[in-house]
Amino acid sequence: MEYPLKFTKCPNCGSESRAIESVVKEEIENGTIKPDSKFALLMTQTPIFDATQVKVLAPRKIPLMLGYFDVCTACGTFYCVEMHKNTGLVEPKLDGPGIRGGGPDGLPFSKS
Ligand SMILES: [Zn+2]
Repeated sequence: MEYPLKFTKCPNCGSESRAIESVVKEEIENGTIKPDSKFALLMTQTPIFDATQVKVLAPRKIPLMLGYFDVCTACGTFYCVEMHKNTGLVEPKLDGPGIRGGGPDGLPFSKS
């Protein structure tokens, strides 16, 4: 499968008008945000990694799925607009009772 997956039309009504995207376009035209700015109603980051099953002894790259969601202005359907496959980095964490995956910033995962 090739990424990013892009869904340009509402799966419910077929409209290409989305709420956040339309406001972002206006703000870019107004010059208040940079042309390459990326916003979404909801952005998700899903590491494909099971910290309960794998001990991390050295930094390890893992698949990291990024989802961008928006809402249709015609019918209100909330849907995925883009899905990206990136790589995340899990680093050893030595301060706990066991060695588990975790990022250097204290968060469980960080982008590489
Ligand atoms: Zn729609």
